[in-house]
Amino acid sequence: MAERDPAGMLERLLAIRDVAGDRRDRVTHVEWLPARAATPVDWPGWAPSSLVARWQERGIVTPWAHQRAAAEIAHAGRSVVIATGTASGKSLAFQLPALSAAVAGTAAPDGRGATVLYLSPTKALAGDQARALGELDPPGVRIAAYDGDTSREERDWARRHAAYVLTNPDMLHHGILPGHARWAGFLRSLRYVVVDEAHAYRGVFGSHVAQVLRRLRRICRSYDADPAFVLASATVAEPAASARRLVGGPVEAVTTDCSPRGATAFALWEPPFTTVRGEHGAPVRRAATAEVADLLTDLVIDGAQTVAFVRSRRAAESVAAATREHLDEVEPWLSGRVAAYRGGYLAEERRDLEAALQSRRLLAVAATNALELGIDIAGLDAVLLAGYPGTRASFWQQVGRAGRGAQGALAILVTRDDPLDGYLAHHPEALFGRPVEATVLDPDNPYVLAPHLAAAAAELPLRPEELDDFGPASARVVETLVERGLLRRRPAGWYWTRRERAADLADLRGSGGAPVRVVEARTGRLLGTVDAAAAPRTVHEGAVYVHQGVAHLVRSLDLDDSAAVVEVAMPDYTTTARELSDLRVLRTTQTVPWGEVGVHVGDVEVTGQVVSYVRRRLGTGEFLGETPLDLPPRTLRTRAVWWTVPAAVLSSAGIGAAATGGALHAAEHAAIALMPLFATCDRWDVGGLSHPLHPDTGQPTIFVHDAHPGGVGFAERGFLAAREWLTAIRDAIAACPCDEGCPGCVQSPKCGNGNAPLDKARSVRLLRVLLADGADRGRHGR
Ligand SMILES: [Zn+2]
Ligand SMILES: [Zn+2]
Repeated sequence: MAERDPAGMLERLLAIRDVAGDRRDRVTHVEWLPARAATPVDWPGWAPSSLVARWQERGIVTPWAHQRAAAEIAHAGRSVVIATGTASGKSLAFQLPALSAAVAGTAAPDGRGATVLYLSPTKALAGDQARALGELDPPGVRIAAYDGDTSREERDWARRHAAYVLTNPDMLHHGILPGHARWAGFLRSLRYVVVDEAHAYRGVFGSHVAQVLRRLRRICRSYDADPAFVLASATVAEPAASARRLVGGPVEAVTTDCSPRGATAFALWEPPFTTVRGEHGAPVRRAATAEVADLLTDLVIDGAQTVAFVRSRRAAESVAAATREHLDEVEPWLSGRVAAYRGGYLAEERRDLEAALQSRRLLAVAATNALELGIDIAGLDAVLLAGYPGTRASFWQQVGRAGRGAQGALAILVTRDDPLDGYLAHHPEALFGRPVEATVLDPDNPYVLAPHLAAAAAELPLRPEELDDFGPASARVVETLVERGLLRRRPAGWYWTRRERAADLADLRGSGGAPVRVVEARTGRLLGTVDAAAAPRTVHEGAVYVHQGVAHLVRSLDLDDSAAVVEVAMPDYTTTARELSDLRVLRTTQTVPWGEVGVHVGDVEVTGQVVSYVRRRLGTGEFLGETPLDLPPRTLRTRAVWWTVPAAVLSSAGIGAAATGGALHAAEHAAIALMPLFATCDRWDVGGLSHPLHPDTGQPTIFVHDAHPGGVGFAERGFLAAREWLTAIRDAIAACPCDEGCPGCVQSPKCGNGNAPLDKARSVRLLRVLLADGADRGRHGR
């Protein structure tokens, strides 16, 4: 296949006129990433030559500078995070020190003088790493994967003999730490803890994992081991600070990528408005998936091998089907070279797909981000994204599939009709400039902390001087555990009093409450479960529930019985639940005055109730109607950030009492939608509320709150990034070409007030007032 020139590929796509007319004005920005030459360096002198030879046999002649820089820090016994792009060889950066120690340790009497614990967020990734290590075959190093599928014999062998153990945080939490005595030999020799895909540890899950790692450090200390943590992360804001919050100790960062790269063109592509009307007659843009199916067709005809990333399995199927249909009309012999990849495949099926892509038998694949982890494809000609995947890490991981090594490639982000995507279409610096999105987690959340303190006490009596390691809230939380009779104070420290396993108190990936079972009506078969807290909005009566790509309709939801009954259906619409909420301020922890305006963060109690759902036509987003629901309210104690704006300030900006509600409400919607620019979350992780005269603040107020019990750091991140956040909200609303508000700016799909009142024009004025007062004070500190 001839070398592909990204500029030519893009030019040919733009020259095509399609059903919606000229394509040129849909491209809002093209970012050219020039080719980058690699910076190779020598192998470190401490790396055993037998190990270096194995890498060289596999084509790695020398490491790149960033790999060696990270390896040197770890080798010196200090913790390090390497935060660089996809395909920058982060694995070598942690394998170099880890395997060097393990190889050198094979001379010890027990055959493992130094041990390594490798953690990955998914079993599949740990499996891939284990396979790759097996192929590398480092001399004398015994490698073992340790997960839920490992047999008892294999587990015994791993504990007694393995020097390099690959596992996940769940196994560490439920298995290794509670049974640490049986791992004594391994833990005593533990030199490195590798934390791969560290950016995946965010939100509630990340907060739990942070406490699991604090327990690990404590247990290691009891065996006189002090391992260095080596983290591999996607590029994020403040990688050292995030890594420190995750592992609970100092971490240095390596962020300069010295790997080679081919010239890449990134286009930001905004679909045109259609004749379809949305809620309150709002204009609606063409669906990103429809636009992507067109582009995929044109790229296939052009001979460019392309992957299109979409959000759901259902969308993957529909994009692949639409592309085949388009091809059938013009070049029917090509339609057999298009496939959908939905994830959940067996290893063999994945390898078949890899082989079909490598041989170019397949030219186009529509995939969910299941492709991100678990399949190795190199050197695609082009990548299409139907919508921003939610985080910069996912974005770069997906576009990184194109043009591996020095080969050029084309990547196109086709934006969806929402404020976040619309903002990115016109602010390329948010994607290509310095990252502002940080990995957010909060290990101090008392709901997260309590079960881990109990688990720690069950592992070894917890001594008062150890509490500091678990964060400032731990003394108070231990007291509560004593009051609840779970811990007892004795001279040596706090003890776990129960017969049950303390580790079972915490589910690292859940948010508490009995999960709701989803049952098929006809067969009584259990299809899956959903989180109790999420059930009212995901499996309410009438909701579309998608299971393995098959759409179902929810017939009934019984919250007392924790069951939802569903049946297979083929609705031509999607559903979105709408929620009303009420909020009480419990405690203000910090306030920064911006002139007359106040920015606050604190504890709140939110009462939320799913009140209705709306249906929108699949593919076009046309608004089909709203149906009321009768579900009980739920109360949540959490954290919030809020702004108070005195009525006098508003009226001087021409926002009278009658218009205040609509202006605040519009700004609140955009604030929620744009939060993911600054924190790794999606719009369901945060909620909001605005009030023209909130009883607890006595002023017009906009609240944005964390949707998880106790909060996991979103409110704090919003507070710290308040100025940038408000600027982005103002710019997003002001730049939208609609007149009265649309899904691309101030309308919210989950608004319990039916997107009324919303005053787009005055919300921009409100934000200008907020920012003018903020400017007087400059940036506030932390
Ligand atoms: Zn708009
Ligand atoms: Zn609303």
